[in-house]
Amino acid sequence: MSFPHLLKPLDLGFTQLKNRVLMGSMHTGLEEEKGGFEKLAAFYRERAAGGVGLIVTGGISPNLRGRLAPHASQLSFPWQVKRHRIVTDAVHGAGGKICMQILHAGRYGYHPFSLAPSALKAPITPFKPSAMSARQIRSTIKDYATSAKLARKAGYDGVEVMGSEGYLINQFICSRTNKRQDEWGGSFENRSRFPLEIVRAIRAAVGSDFIIIFRLSMLDLVEEGSSWDEVVALAKGLEEAGVTIINTGIGWHEARIPTIATSVPRGAFAWVTERLKQEVHIPLIATNRINTPEIAEQILASGQADMVSMARPFLADPDFVNKAAAGQSELINTCIGCNQACLDHTFKMKRATCLVNPRACYETEINFPKTSQPKKIAVMGAGPAGMAFSIYAASRGHNVVLFEAKGEVGGQFNLARKIPGKEEFDETIRYFNNQMRQTGVELRLNTRLDASVLNDEDFDEVVIAAGVVPRAVKLPGFDSPRVVNYQQVLNGEVRVGQKVALIGAGGIGFDMAHYLGEKDSTTLDPKRWRDQWGIDDAYEARGGLKAPIKEPAERTIYLLQRKTTPMGKGLGKTTGWIHRTVAKMHGVVQMNGVSYESFDEQGLHIRVNEETKVLDVNTVILCAGQESNRSLVAEMEATGKPVHLIGGVDVAAELDAKRAIRQGAELAMRI
Ligand code: FAD
Ligand code: NAP
Ligand code: SF4
Repeated sequence: MSFPHLLKPLDLGFTQLKNRVLMGSMHTGLEEEKGGFEKLAAFYRERAAGGVGLIVTGGISPNLRGRLAPHASQLSFPWQVKRHRIVTDAVHGAGGKICMQILHAGRYGYHPFSLAPSALKAPITPFKPSAMSARQIRSTIKDYATSAKLARKAGYDGVEVMGSEGYLINQFICSRTNKRQDEWGGSFENRSRFPLEIVRAIRAAVGSDFIIIFRLSMLDLVEEGSSWDEVVALAKGLEEAGVTIINTGIGWHEARIPTIATSVPRGAFAWVTERLKQEVHIPLIATNRINTPEIAEQILASGQADMVSMARPFLADPDFVNKAAAGQSELINTCIGCNQACLDHTFKMKRATCLVNPRACYETEINFPKTSQPKKIAVMGAGPAGMAFSIYAASRGHNVVLFEAKGEVGGQFNLARKIPGKEEFDETIRYFNNQMRQTGVELRLNTRLDASVLNDEDFDEVVIAAGVVPRAVKLPGFDSPRVVNYQQVLNGEVRVGQKVALIGAGGIGFDMAHYLGEKDSTTLDPKRWRDQWGIDDAYEARGGLKAPIKEPAERTIYLLQRKTTPMGKGLGKTTGWIHRTVAKMHGVVQMNGVSYESFDEQGLHIRVNEETKVLDVNTVILCAGQESNRSLVAEMEATGKPVHLIGGVDVAAELDAKRAIRQGAELAMRI
């Protein structure tokens, strides 16, 4: 497939963008690391060289109290300009363009000095902001202009003003957070004065030949958010005030509707941008869950937007655009929307990276140079760990033979992709499959590797990536054919009754609750998905909300754990709440502090709070964690060849694909 709309240049009058691809703003954590700007420069350089039309940096505060966290980045003084030069020079050297995002966190600031239009605490931070005085408002507007001027000095091609996701500007725009009664609050005209004055001040400071993108919250997805008429009026005002491009913002961070997670349908919010296209004359950018050139092309070709913004897809693959341009989209490492290594890291103050691409943000640290001593390496198991090791080791020039006992590669990802909302996991398997072909990995499917195979061939080293086996639970009655494990269910080996108990409420327990509770994935049906979450594409109420439409429960499901900690506590920081909400939607009964006793005709016998209960279920599904599949380790070690363990076979506890893939890459770098 070719991508004529995606690759078409965009003429902004005073400058041209080489295509319609914007790399959206992402905070990487390198901004605050010692020596981080050099690493940041390498990160952005690769994306610019990979063909991105315009890059936007992570959010940089215009002043001290606007910082997201106490040590977060700020650009307010001339002495801070120099280190930004490292980044802009790198991007320009690679033929790219880059804008700096100016972000004032307002009440989302994670420190006690945060400021907001009104002194209202956000539900997602522990700190209550102080209400800004009129003087502080005026000086903040000036700070935005100063920051933009310094950005120009630092060599940026423009700035993006962050006006969405519930940050300071958004807090001024909406009556939800703006309870002021002076000229900055009350009427819409007053509430929108702050963003308009900021844009006017920036334009006056930077001149006419500098890009100003405004990230406009087009769909707040919170109570007392903007009405559609207000969105349109503000967009028109911004155009008049001198904005070059309007980018789409969807949902405040405190919204309880997923906007970027993997279960959000691809391009789910392009309709919002499309609505605004009829109202303004400047280019508009569509965002959120656009992760392939195909979906991006479709949005542009159908006239829903003039550009597309993709952020995480450029963590997953810096060469996304070049691969699309070369007609090789099947070689793109696709972002699966898991958030596990990017946003989850950011929220834990760790450097962002990518589950499917461990090099992301480690461009100067993780590399795979050609080896001067090629080895013949046998790899046991084509799960994420084995596949990752194989492609990286082969790209270094090693002769890699990958043995997989099953008829397909992917390991447990073949189970994960069957969960509603995890369809994207297919893309990772597709990527590795193609990459194995590209790098010359010899793949032997339906071939179990054991010591006899090893002895027959002349291998130098062995990598065991044989994964995990589900943990068995041995209790009276658990030998019944109606007590099964999650693998048997997902592989279609057993029939599941209408009344089910899930033993274990980790990631897999919650996934199984979703699998058994949802009839056909709503992710593949955007209308049903919007209904499920209460998103109104007719935009009749403020914030674009409507009452969710409940679907009848597919089954009676109990989700159980022994710990007394809250259910789903160990799930991903940015996605756990989605899993918990979905379980509630499907009427899943969640119980903690459970001890299991036995299973019989009456059902599952348990004790909770010293009380005995019988759950009337006809199927029990074990999701009780996993154990390393080490059955062959000793015999492989006995061959005398160097043996390496990666992924689940190394450590089963807290195993996820992020660790499996990273371990594979790190071993390939060393071997
Ligand atoms: P595995 O994926 O278990 O692969 C091991 C492979 O080795 C298998 O293909 C097996 O057939 C093969 N093998 C074993 N013995 C031999 C032999 N002797 N010879 C040849 N081949 C052999 N992780 C996440 O990070 N995020 C998620 O959202 C997520 N969701 C999940 C949902 C479900 C339903 C499941 C089941 C798992 C999920 N996981 C998730 C976990 C993730 O899939 C695992 O952490 C990951 O697959 C582990 O990779 P691995 O390579 O170590 O092992
Ligand atoms: P897990 O998260 O370790 O959960 C295992 C569950 O089984 C826990 O609820 C545990 O809770 C219970 N359990 C453990 N031993 C038991 C026993 N002997 N008897 C009864 N219950 C027992 O493991 P998982 O759910 O199998 O997931 C495996 C890995 O895949 C996870 O580490 C996760 O990272 C990854 N994964 C991630 C996602 C995601 O969305 N990010 C989704 C799926 C999987 P109690 O001990 O309290 O009973
Ligand atoms: Fe995408 Fe997951 Fe990588 Fe984040 S960690 S960029 S969501 S694949």
